[in-house]
Amino acid sequence: MTGPGAIPHIALADLPTPLEPLRRLSAELGGPRIWVKRDDATGLAMGGNKVRKLEYLMADAAEQGADIVLTTGATQSNHCRQTAAAASRLGIDCELLIEHRFPDWPDAYTEGGNLQLDRLLGATVIDLERGVDRVQAMEDRAAELRADGRRPYIIALGGSSVVGAMGYRTAAMEILRQADDLGLELREVVHATASGGTQAGLVAGMAIRRSTVPVLGISAGAPADYLAPVVRELAEGVIARIGIDREIADDAVVIDDDYVGEEYGIPTAEMHEAVSMCARLEGLLLDPVYSGKAMAGLIGHIRAGRYRASDSASANDVVFIHTGGTPALFAYR
Ligand SMILES: *Cc1c(COP(=O)(O)O)cnc(C)c1O
Repeated sequence: MTGPGAIPHIALADLPTPLEPLRRLSAELGGPRIWVKRDDATGLAMGGNKVRKLEYLMADAAEQGADIVLTTGATQSNHCRQTAAAASRLGIDCELLIEHRFPDWPDAYTEGGNLQLDRLLGATVIDLERGVDRVQAMEDRAAELRADGRRPYIIALGGSSVVGAMGYRTAAMEILRQADDLGLELREVVHATASGGTQAGLVAGMAIRRSTVPVLGISAGAPADYLAPVVRELAEGVIARIGIDREIADDAVVIDDDYVGEEYGIPTAEMHEAVSMCARLEGLLLDPVYSGKAMAGLIGHIRAGRYRASDSASANDVVFIHTGGTPALFAYR
């Protein structure tokens, strides 16, 4: 924890995460040099992007005297797994309200992967049916807990509140510092976006550093016109919370929803190709729900010539953030 007036923070992640070249994938695609930011390697219980958010969320919960955290997600939520692990590490209880969208899928999906780890980590799992209002369900459960004398703290879906997004403003700074150390000329930072907190933090961090490096979020579910205002509001919230004088530029929030496919969590042919290319060319394991679709987006953009030499021909490095989710590989065939 830090001093008065500072933003409460508890260290949970192994930071900085590595920034590594994907030489064989870059050569195969014949486009820019691709670098992977290994946020799958944040350490806690198989890692992932939520650990950076939880450093701020769990500190806020502790400040508020919480003795139990509640959060929500889909059956194979990586966010729920990482929250359960953070709660275990800090010795507080955790309840996960899990929405089962595909209850008829094989057991590997409905019971394995992340959900198996949630239980192993000691979280209490409350099952919700598809389409239930998850925000209301968490508020109702928190009211019951309060009536029992408990002090619950609600963590938003995906940890995407202003507090959670704080964790990705520092990730943006980390990327800029590492790129600088390696002498890279960054063309773009690309990552999977879903509840928006990761992208919001990145956009805010770039603004804080007055960087012009663009951030491209490839949606794993939500339509871009729904998600973009959410990301912007969270990014502005981060700026306001820090109390720094910055504007989020009009064109700073860029989301591509062309790689979602049928629906969140449902595989696409492009995802399969991206996951197997990274595995076979780089020994790098992506996930089927987020980073696989995001990499499919990056590959699609490279093939379409997005990074072809232009006026900024010196900038030839693209950073792909591996946001984690590898345990979900075991839930999918
Ligand atoms: C949650 C998650 C994301 C999306 O991050 P948001 O902050 O919710 O947009 C991306 N990749 C993985 C593996 C995730 O678990």
